[in-house]
Amino acid sequence: MELGRTGTAAVTDGSPFGTDNLPYGVFSTPSTRPRVGVRLGDTVVDLGAALGSDGPDAAFAAPVLNPFMAQGRTRWAEVRERITALVAAGVPDAAVHAVGDVVLHLPFEVADYVDFYACEHHATNLGRLFRPDTEPLTPNWKHMPLGYHGRAGTVVVSGTDIVRPSGQRKDTADAAPAFGPSTRLDIEAELGFVVGVGTPLGAPIPVDAFAEHVFGAVLVNDWSARDLQAWEYVPLGPHLGKSFATSVSPWVVPLLALEAARIPLPGQDDPRPLPYLRASAPWGLDVDLAVEWNGEVVSRPPYREMYWSPAQMLAHMTVNGASTRTGDLFASGTVSGPATNQRGSLIELSSGGREPITVTGEPRTFLLDGDTVSLTGTAPGAAGGRIGFGEVRGRIRPARLTSAGRRPRLTDRRRSVTS
Ligand code: MN
Repeated sequence: MELGRTGTAAVTDGSPFGTDNLPYGVFSTPSTRPRVGVRLGDTVVDLGAALGSDGPDAAFAAPVLNPFMAQGRTRWAEVRERITALVAAGVPDAAVHAVGDVVLHLPFEVADYVDFYACEHHATNLGRLFRPDTEPLTPNWKHMPLGYHGRAGTVVVSGTDIVRPSGQRKDTADAAPAFGPSTRLDIEAELGFVVGVGTPLGAPIPVDAFAEHVFGAVLVNDWSARDLQAWEYVPLGPHLGKSFATSVSPWVVPLLALEAARIPLPGQDDPRPLPYLRASAPWGLDVDLAVEWNGEVVSRPPYREMYWSPAQMLAHMTVNGASTRTGDLFASGTVSGPATNQRGSLIELSSGGREPITVTGEPRTFLLDGDTVSLTGTAPGAAGGRIGFGEVRGRIRPARLTSAGRRPRLTDRRRSVTS
């Protein structure tokens, strides 16, 4: 397959993966090892084969993006320009693979993982559901981007099955907690940001230095077991209700591709944030998300509604002197808009499970075994169209622990793994 002058029109005309996007990922074929590629139209360009593998380009042979991300902003811009020039000149056949012929891997080794709570609509909705007798926004919410540290080792790539977690839960009416598979398994539609260039201990990242450190963005589904979460989260925050799995999209959209998607932040005048959170030129992102549940779009969360910016999240995450590393992932928190069909979690869409929504003709609240959820995202691109984030997809598999806290018998386990 030849791309280039003859194929350029097919790539750029309306494709969410035109030359104004060029997201990076890690791919393999049945006979070759994982390595770095860039998405172009319906193809993956093998960067090592296309650009070379000498010197700094040796990073393209790595099975993760981390070595390339660690090379820094000047190098990211230089490689992007070389790819653009290569596409204009024609990509050699040997470097081009149809996206349907490759396996996509977790694109980066996740160092640390933080999840924020930066959407006022979501925080207000959740506050009402989890703490109905108090103000929905806690007193600190508008003074700093709240977040918690998640489990980096359970971040998985799109397409990975999600096993229903088991754990403790206790309804308010129950005298004592019970153990068993979660009955309120949920999603959270989010964007995640990936650190390329880290920082040593004691060196906070100023809010205006974001682009020196952050390589790009991915779609994130922060799978959440609401029953486990509700019982465990006071006073230390989310733990096992979140840590069983977090899914990310296989393509990392470079920050350089998102410049056309920058928008002013919603106002932060009441209260005004502390100086370390005030950027000289604040920006948010105009990314449209969509939540598909068993193939049906049930929500379209607008990232442009987010209260705290990605730069404020990173500045806050490091203001205490915490170091960062290549591969750090920090996610935005659930994205929800003001309208009912813009909510980024099922607990919001179903009003805490009390008001089912109709999905493929059935009344539904939380996820059932066999359900598939896919998040997609697009943003304005520099060429005037829209660039794509691709998708992050996951399918729910049955729990592996019974309500007695035992593994199912081997025959059942085999069935649950292979069916
Ligand atoms: Mn979350």
